[in-house]
Amino acid sequence: MQTRIHETLQAAAAAKPDALAMIDYADGKYTWSDLVEATAEAKEVLLEHGVKPGDRVVMVFENCLAVCAFLFATSQLDATAVPLNARLTHAELDRMITHSDPSVVVFCKDASESAVIHGKAFSAKTAMGSFGTVAIFQRRCSQSEPSFEDGSEQVALLLYTSGTTGVPKAAMLTHFNLLCAAAASAKVRGIEDGDMTYLALPLSHIFGLVTLLSVCTAQGALRLEARFSVERLYKALQTDVTLLPAVPQMHAHLFHYAMAQNEPRYKAGLLRFVSSGGAPLDPTWKREAEAFYGIPLQNGYGLTESSAGVCATTSPFGDPDVSVGHPMLDSTFQLDFDAEGAAPAEGIGEILVGGPQIMKGYFRDPEQSAKVLTADGFFRTGDLGRFDEEGRLHIAGRSKELIIRSGFNVYPAEIEGALTDHPEVIMAGVVGRQVSGNEEVLAFVKVATACSLNEADLSDFVKDRLAPYKRPTRIILAPDLPAAPTGKILKGKLISTFADELMRETAV
Ligand code: ATP
Repeated sequence: MQTRIHETLQAAAAAKPDALAMIDYADGKYTWSDLVEATAEAKEVLLEHGVKPGDRVVMVFENCLAVCAFLFATSQLDATAVPLNARLTHAELDRMITHSDPSVVVFCKDASESAVIHGKAFSAKTAMGSFGTVAIFQRRCSQSEPSFEDGSEQVALLLYTSGTTGVPKAAMLTHFNLLCAAAASAKVRGIEDGDMTYLALPLSHIFGLVTLLSVCTAQGALRLEARFSVERLYKALQTDVTLLPAVPQMHAHLFHYAMAQNEPRYKAGLLRFVSSGGAPLDPTWKREAEAFYGIPLQNGYGLTESSAGVCATTSPFGDPDVSVGHPMLDSTFQLDFDAEGAAPAEGIGEILVGGPQIMKGYFRDPEQSAKVLTADGFFRTGDLGRFDEEGRLHIAGRSKELIIRSGFNVYPAEIEGALTDHPEVIMAGVVGRQVSGNEEVLAFVKVATACSLNEADLSDFVKDRLAPYKRPTRIILAPDLPAAPTGKILKGKLISTFADELMRETAV
């Protein structure tokens, strides 16, 4: 029985030391023994810098071998890993580093530019090993967190949420949470010997991390990309990839790219599992992606606080169902019909999820933790949803994002779906804005730069699809929308990003 996440790596290395475990973005190939060796070297580096049980170890990087090595080394030391994406702004990195109060900060080579801003606060050293070169900054943390006799209860990860709705929160995930999530995910994906999982999701996001751990648990192999590139994904699909977990935006990009290459069908025949998760799956994208892959696209629902997936579909090819499926393994659900935005008559309530994957709480924030964790162990997701007669969960949207227009509930996901039905719309984010005692519906739409579409065209397009109270009052078209490193639209930033356009544009 494994109690800590690095034991998954050790077990894989004991079972198949010389088998291929990982191919990185530079086509470097590593066996399970190579990963164990890199982890041992990273552990030495952390020990030299005085890391103790209960300390936090921040890692700033794009996906690479070093982050895997430091993640598992941190686990071996009973410390807590805080993986941060090197593409965050300096201000965001600074806030998260200050908040997580680490004893060391490790910057992987590609992230060394970010290290400069912290140069004054920390004294930097360079460390080298088979994991590559890293810059390491030692820091006096204000206090180590307590250690647990039962290692599985130790906090393995402090993981910041995506910040879709506001400032990211730091979820404390234990080894037990993550081991359960990895096992559930490996089971849903059916990882077998010879499988190659494609991973371009950042290892600073729960979806990426649980994908890595699921591959270790099932002793498969991983193709690890530094970051998402549609050209590289397209190429990898022709080479060796058999399992493709991704966020919806990646599937949409791939479909548009394949169409532009005049290759509307994936022909290599290697893929046997494709999934989408982490954000709403638009029905149009599902249709398009399935037409391209030729196999079903499974939808999974989960949050940082639930250590990734807690619900997943097992739909046949071409199924128009856009639910998020049935509860995975030991996850349990309740709906709160008294919550804000609930519509009991339609069976819609706030989704509460329980089970072994639920976080311990938010780091050093007992007040916020008490608001979301119930006495009987459920987590209030802030998402609204309903179960259908087959027991499948349908996500209606987030209660925080619910728009109340002239007394009617407007769920942004429905408006976004109507907009992305248009073939020239790449993605859409819909938010509400208070105006003279009512709420208006603002739509922000990503279109290709060469596209000739305008607001009036789109407004006409949605007229047949949406009741008048649901139709956007403003539609702003842009070549890009503010997004998290996973590609998820940062809705809390839409209004401020397009403040000038909102002032300038005329209402539709
Ligand atoms: P923050 O809490 O900082 O606003 P976030 O909630 O976006 O950020 P994540 O933990 O990355 O951070 O995302 C979880 C959320 O993503 C869920 O609460 C849900 O709203 C959405 N989500 C995840 N998977 C799906 C899915 N398959 N369908 C619809 N929504 C999904």
